[in-house]
Amino acid sequence: MAVNYGKVVWHNNQFINWEDATIHVVSHVIHYGTSVFEGMRTYKTHLGPAIFRLKDHMTRLKNSAKIYRMPIPYTIDELCNACIETVKKNNFETCYVRPFSFRGHGEMGVNPLNNPIETYVAVWEWGKYLGSEALENGVDVCISSWNRFAPNTLPALSKAGANYMNSQLIKMEAMQNGYVEGIALDKNGYISEGSGENIFVISKGIIYTPPRTSSILPGLTRDTIITIANDLGYTVKEDIIPRESLYIADEAFFAGTAVEITPIRSVDKIIIGEGKRGPITTKVQEEFFNIFNGKRTIPDDWLGVIK
Ligand code: PMP
Repeated sequence: MAVNYGKVVWHNNQFINWEDATIHVVSHVIHYGTSVFEGMRTYKTHLGPAIFRLKDHMTRLKNSAKIYRMPIPYTIDELCNACIETVKKNNFETCYVRPFSFRGHGEMGVNPLNNPIETYVAVWEWGKYLGSEALENGVDVCISSWNRFAPNTLPALSKAGANYMNSQLIKMEAMQNGYVEGIALDKNGYISEGSGENIFVISKGIIYTPPRTSSILPGLTRDTIITIANDLGYTVKEDIIPRESLYIADEAFFAGTAVEITPIRSVDKIIIGEGKRGPITTKVQEEFFNIFNGKRTIPDDWLGVIK
């Protein structure tokens, strides 16, 4: 299926044609993985098209870059504006938004510092990440034989391109074995996250999710869910989660920009709860989508409205 990427891409404060958004093969990023990025969704909302958690995503982008001594020469507001303008210029009402920065072509060798920082925003139309049925029926997943990176190896809090080599190993193995997604354990054998999404596990009415110390990327969807669930009166605990507690959970779901809130039906062929979307997952999912129709009051900066 051909993906619609629109017509223009934002590059270093200018719009260029999509076809011209190319780089040289000796760019630093290609050889050493020197990139950071974000992924957001533009939703149709009661206020018009809006990029969800735009400001928070741009803050995370700047922080991801800071960890790698990669100063992005734009403010958070300028980056937000670049994203909004890119969606607008491409005439999308709903789309995926991908801002990213990388070290381009300057000098080969591991030292990145003499390579220019290039910043781009690209957009494209993207449907349901794990299939159109997934949000309702749930997905069958496995525990990966690959762990997430140990602390003080690759920094998990930075959403860096290089981290996704680990994600690719998790995803490929899962798919080869007939699952749609894999869940990685951390260095200590506790649940960490999926290849591109956080995880929530529900047991006896309490909602658990792994803490930052389990090598997760702390997702904005995860943060949204913690806020929503607290508002709904549920107890949410950020706590280390033993692998086996997932097998005996009442409900479990993935959370992320791409998967939104996707129930987990089985793990390693062990049925979770009733093997279908559970009541708490349903409630949280419903409240999540209420953000976009105005039924739920949210902080002002959660929607980057395209004006
Ligand atoms: N973990 C990983 C590894 C991810 O790639 C993502 C997607 N950005 C997430 C978690 C979820 O983050 P968010 O909710 O901010 O999209």
